[in-house]
Amino acid sequence: MPIEMPKGLPFSVDTWTPCSNRKRHHFLTHAHKDHSQGISTHSSFPIYATRLTKSLTLNCYPQLNESLFVDIEIGQPIAINDPVETFTVTAFDANHCPGAVMFLFEGTFGNILHTGDCRLTPECLQRLPEKYLGKTSREPKCRLDYIFLDCTFATFSSKMPSKHLAIRQVIDCIWKHPDARVVYLTCDLLGQEEILENICKTFGSKIFINKENNPECFQSLSLTIPNILSQDPSSRFHLFDGFPRLSERAEAKIIEARANFQPDPLIIRPSAQWYVFEDVSSESEKRKNSRFKEAIRDSFGIWHVCYSMHSSRDELEWALQLLAPKRVVSTTPEFRAIELGYVRRHCSFDNLAPDDPLWKLLDIDLEAPLVNEDIQEEVTVNKKEMLTVSSPVKGTCLTLFGRARAGLGNSTLSYEDLVKPEIPTRNVDEVGSDGEVPEGQHDGSKSNGLTKGIGKRATPYSPTGMSNGVNENIRKLYRSMHIPVPKPLPSLVEILNNRKRAKRSFML
Ligand SMILES: [Zn+2]
Repeated sequence: MPIEMPKGLPFSVDTWTPCSNRKRHHFLTHAHKDHSQGISTHSSFPIYATRLTKSLTLNCYPQLNESLFVDIEIGQPIAINDPVETFTVTAFDANHCPGAVMFLFEGTFGNILHTGDCRLTPECLQRLPEKYLGKTSREPKCRLDYIFLDCTFATFSSKMPSKHLAIRQVIDCIWKHPDARVVYLTCDLLGQEEILENICKTFGSKIFINKENNPECFQSLSLTIPNILSQDPSSRFHLFDGFPRLSERAEAKIIEARANFQPDPLIIRPSAQWYVFEDVSSESEKRKNSRFKEAIRDSFGIWHVCYSMHSSRDELEWALQLLAPKRVVSTTPEFRAIELGYVRRHCSFDNLAPDDPLWKLLDIDLEAPLVNEDIQEEVTVNKKEMLTVSSPVKGTCLTLFGRARAGLGNSTLSYEDLVKPEIPTRNVDEVGSDGEVPEGQHDGSKSNGLTKGIGKRATPYSPTGMSNGVNENIRKLYRSMHIPVPKPLPSLVEILNNRKRAKRSFML
């Protein structure tokens, strides 16, 4: 899921929630559904998107009013007149799916590139303004302050073929199976049109799509590649649903053909998903090496080709070297930027100066006390802890913007607060002078000072019988949301003891 933009920015990108709806400007990078979820209920004018993304989105959400959208042309900067500050936005091709763009925002908040979903190839990056592009061992003239980066495959170390090469592999696979009367293509996702176009061009045959069975896909393809679609089921090429139960359906097609004494149909799935999730540990080196060079058949009879709409790890590293951004935030999945070597080497958040623009971006005033409106209690907190900035080199989760990403709204808790292991409770007599404050007695004077490091956090005081097994911070979160704190599950030892006791009484 895309992430909420920090509080200090006046715009949202690809999020449609009550929180993002409060922003003054909205941007939609592309028409995949995981980026438009909630748009029918939490959207307001203006939504900036390319014309094609707008049409595809209106196709999926007919209840949306077209007047909510403002068209944005690729490569043409737009000045946005915001009541607080005017800023500029420019869209660039994201090499992801038809209509998909990255947005470059330039304003007093800094220079921010939001990639949406993207496949960052050299051609794609060369379209960005030259001043942001570095050369070998030379930084760009102007550095991006932040890049919100699609890190979907940041942990996938294999070299993926380019889209162009992957299409070549699909076509080669079809050439190698001249006997297959029917070729089923699992190309029903927005972004796989180029494969269908190339097949149509190479083999001179249109692609059959069953309009009744897949009306949404038909509508979408009618907008992107109307000239190569066919309603004639005798066409050799059929569009095949990728989900659900693809393996089962593929096997059934093969069994059906054999029962009719026909050659096996060819079923091709051009996608990176299988490569990412398939366990290859038992495969021979030869097969491992060839799996990205040609189509590969699985045990169900499906031929796979690694066609990726997202950047490989190599491509992400290369792009970051070229752009040399000051900070990197993973848009999806959360926190994955820390997996990248560039981030580990160059994006430390240690020793943030009080005048660092990051504080403004997060709308955090280091001097002001923080008021939690939900529990009507004024608490002075260590603002630095809210960020949970930590050195990526130590391998800790990069939790910048963690609050927003954890979807905690106005909670004063950081993501790290919620996920850190339970700290054993201590008796009140053991409370030292290092700043811990009994619950409900925060007076500010005993709060953690700005000089304290994250590792020196005070152990929270917990009255007897209140929190056995439930993290103090999680209890606070539940209360701030007016939800009763759930009772912790009994421990395994407790269950075993009870069992022993029951057994003993039975024997007696
Ligand atoms: Zn996408």
